[in-house]
Amino acid sequence: MKIMLVNPPRFEGLPVIREERCEITERYSVLEPYSLLQLAAILRDRGHNIALLDANGFDYDYAHVEKKLADVMPDVLIFRFTPTTFDHDTSICAIVRELNPKIKTIGLCWTLNKVPKDVMDSVPELDYYATGDYETVVPSIIEKISDVSGIGGLVWRSGKDVIINTPTRGMIANLDELPIPAYDLLDSLDPYFINTPTDEVFTIMYTSRGCPYGCIYCTVAGTVWKPRSAESVMKELRYLKKKYNVKLVSFFDETFTIDKQRIMDICRAMVEEKLDIKWYCNTRANLLDEELIIAMRDAGCRGMSIGVESGSQKILDMASKRITVEEARNVIRLAKKHGLKVLCSFIFGLPGETWDTVDETIQFVKNALPTGVQFNVAVPYPGTELHRWAIEKGLLKETGWRHLYQHESVVGTEDMSPEDLNKARYMAYKALYTYPIWYLENIKHVLKNPEDFNMAVKYSIKIINNFVLHRMEHSH
Ligand code: SF4
Repeated sequence: MKIMLVNPPRFEGLPVIREERCEITERYSVLEPYSLLQLAAILRDRGHNIALLDANGFDYDYAHVEKKLADVMPDVLIFRFTPTTFDHDTSICAIVRELNPKIKTIGLCWTLNKVPKDVMDSVPELDYYATGDYETVVPSIIEKISDVSGIGGLVWRSGKDVIINTPTRGMIANLDELPIPAYDLLDSLDPYFINTPTDEVFTIMYTSRGCPYGCIYCTVAGTVWKPRSAESVMKELRYLKKKYNVKLVSFFDETFTIDKQRIMDICRAMVEEKLDIKWYCNTRANLLDEELIIAMRDAGCRGMSIGVESGSQKILDMASKRITVEEARNVIRLAKKHGLKVLCSFIFGLPGETWDTVDETIQFVKNALPTGVQFNVAVPYPGTELHRWAIEKGLLKETGWRHLYQHESVVGTEDMSPEDLNKARYMAYKALYTYPIWYLENIKHVLKNPEDFNMAVKYSIKIINNFVLHRMEHSH
C-alpha cells in the first residue's frame, strides 16, 4: 500500500508538539515527529510504500501539504492532531477527501482518547481514530483495512452514522521489537530543537512508555510502564551518532528513571562507548538519588525536567502526587550540586489551591532556586480525576477541549477563579524573573559549567522575549 504520514502545519505560526501525552502549542520547541517516524519504520518493514512530510518541522503550509498529497496520492493518510489545534490539524481530512474520496484517513491523538465519539462526530472525513498504542493499532488497520472489526484501541465508522469503539488498548508487548524510527525520511534534522535553539544536532527519543503513578491531572496516569532494554536504547543512539552526528537528545519518556538499574546500565554503556551525546530527561523527584545523578552526569546528562507542581504539601497530597516538598527541594539541590540543570514545572489550580498555597509555591521556587521553571494552570483533560472533580464541584465553566491551554485557565478551585489562576501564573513568573538571587545562582552555574554559556545567553533572551512580548502564552 502507498501510505503517507503527515505532521500537520504549525498553528497560527506557532510550532505544535504532537507527541504522546505532550500535545500542545510550544513557541520555543520544534520536535521530530517521533511517533510518525516510528510508525513509518514499522510499516516500511512490512513492505509498504512510505512517504512522510513534517510540515510542522519544516514550516510548510497547507498548500504545500496538498501539493505533496496530490503528488504521492496515497491509499492511506496517517496524521496526528491535538485538542487545541484540532480543527486546524483535522482539516487535512477534507483536503484528502477532495483529492480522492477513496483515500483512507487515520488520526492519532493521545489526549482525546476518552472522548472518541466527539472526535469522530467533529470530523466526518476521519475514517479511523487510533486511541490505543499506535505501533500495534495502525499496522492492524492497514492489514485488515477491508474489515477492521475487533481491532482493539480503535474507533471507526460502520456505515454512515454508526461509530464503533473498541476501547481495549491494543497494547504493544515489547518495545525492543520496534525498528529504529525512519529518521531518513526527514530531509535533515536541522529544524529541530527544544526550549532554546543551540545549533547542535538534536532529537527526542523514547526509552520507555507509560507511567504507573496516579497524578490526578495526568492523561497517562495509571498506564502500564513499558521499558526498552539498555541495548535497544544504545542501538538507536549509536545509529543517531553515526548517521547524523547527533549531539543532543531529549529522552521524552514520562518517567525516565523509574527503574534505577536500567538507567545505570544505559549510563555505563554510554560511558564505555564514549558516545559524547548530551542529554536531558523527564522524571520525578522521588526517582533520583545521588548515585544515580552522578552516573547520569558522567554519561552526558546535562539536566532534567521534574514535575514538582506545588510548594504546598496539602496540594501535592490532594493531587495524589506521591512526593513531598522536601524530596523536591533535596533533588533540586543534589542535581545542582553535581552540575546539572533542573527545570521544574508547577501547576496552579489543583484542588485546594488558594492564594496562600500559590504563595507557598512562589516561596518554594525562590528558596529552592531550580535552574528554570514552567508555571502552568491546571487543565482538566477528559478522563482524568481532575476533570471528574471539576465537574462534580461545578467548577468547569468551559467544557470544550479545544480550549485546554496550559496558559489559560478554564477551571477554578473553590477559592480561586480561572482569572485568579491566570494572574497567579503571571505573578509567579514575575516574582522569579525579578529575583536577583535566581540570576546569581544561574550565573554561578555557568561559571562552573562554561559549556552552558551559549545556552544561558539564548535562554535569557527567550525569557525576556517571552515575558515582555508574549506574556508567557503558548510557551513554558
Ligand atoms: S508521574 Fe504523574 S504526571 Fe508524571 S507521567 Fe506519571 S502520572 Fe503523569
